[in-house]
Amino acid sequence: MSVSLDLADPKTRPAVDAAGLSPVDVDERTSLIGMSREELGEALAAVGVPAKQVRMRTAQLWHWLYVRGVSDFAHMANVSKDLRNKLDAAYTIARPEIVTEQVSVDGTRKWVFRFPPRGAGRPVEIETVYIPEEGRGTLCVSSQVGCTLTCTFCHTGTQRLVRNLTAGEIVSQVLLARERLGDFPDVDTPAGAIVPSEGRLVSNVVMMGMGEPLYNFDNVATALGVISDGEGLSVSKRRITLSTSGVVPEIVRAGEETGVMLAISLHAVNDELRDELVPINKKYPLATLLEACRNYPGLSNAKRITFEYVMLKGVNDSMEDARNLVRMLKGIPAKINLIPFNPWPGSRYECSDWDQIERFADYVNQAGYASPIRTPRGRDIFAACGQLKSESERMRKKDRDRIELLN
Ligand code: SF4
Repeated sequence: MSVSLDLADPKTRPAVDAAGLSPVDVDERTSLIGMSREELGEALAAVGVPAKQVRMRTAQLWHWLYVRGVSDFAHMANVSKDLRNKLDAAYTIARPEIVTEQVSVDGTRKWVFRFPPRGAGRPVEIETVYIPEEGRGTLCVSSQVGCTLTCTFCHTGTQRLVRNLTAGEIVSQVLLARERLGDFPDVDTPAGAIVPSEGRLVSNVVMMGMGEPLYNFDNVATALGVISDGEGLSVSKRRITLSTSGVVPEIVRAGEETGVMLAISLHAVNDELRDELVPINKKYPLATLLEACRNYPGLSNAKRITFEYVMLKGVNDSMEDARNLVRMLKGIPAKINLIPFNPWPGSRYECSDWDQIERFADYVNQAGYASPIRTPRGRDIFAACGQLKSESERMRKKDRDRIELLN
């Protein structure tokens, strides 16, 4: 049975005012989380840190934020009280609110995080998922609230775009997950949690949550710089994967500016079907997408592109599709990730039969592609691939359905 921890307990969730806003929502201080080192240095200079101390102070703060994982200036023991007070008056390092935390039978965890409004907007909610496996712990991070794209197999695609996440909101997902998992020096791992038996609890980060990361390029690039910084969160670029539905003009730039691994949400081997499954294909068809992949910086057998392929019964799972897939990727150092379709309420597709998935996998494996079948994880808490949608949006949909029934 899955466990759902509703963190709406007043001890863990801030009280809200008549407009439904918590003190975190109305806090107008700038967050230091997610700033690059240069930006952090500028923020320090702005509160009066002398130019010759800026570098040293930046390193100090970086260590407290990303190695020790503190979320209160008061805990920065080697920073003078005077500077801590100045920082606290101008900036915040508070975590966003955790609305819920659900734990699947298989140990997958899904959090709903709530971020303050930007400008006149409302607070927003996004989902982040942790998938523990033997030897690794992968965090699936969101880049947008909702999505402008409408991939027909994806639940997030049914939620309109509300806004881009800031770099700080992207980095905060990693900080909060590590805090909840006890992956910082001063916090314990929850009793009974399923986590890798050795090594880091969050060893891998995939930008595969809600949203299209390349439509929020600058914030994603800044956040990945912070997440991969070797003196902080220190997730190796080899263990960070950015997944795109195929925003062709930004693919090469993403490789040049972030240096992380690339995944393509492919799912079809001809333009006619991909136009339907991944509609951005109408703008950037397969030939242009594959050309951009061939030009991805640093591409080699040691740095392959992952092609994600969701298995949809009777749609894209024939042996002819398998043969065309192998033919199409010829010459590109690639891995193929086969994803059994994860159903969600209202979806029009079914998952392929298991023996067909295995036949498909055998064929692509024999053709030389390492093509693991991604075991469905966290389906019982709607945390699996393609199932994410913010809880508030799910509730709004339920309300709309109820009203329709009453009318
Ligand atoms: S698969 Fe990605 S790009 Fe497509 S609708 Fe879902 S979140 Fe958006």
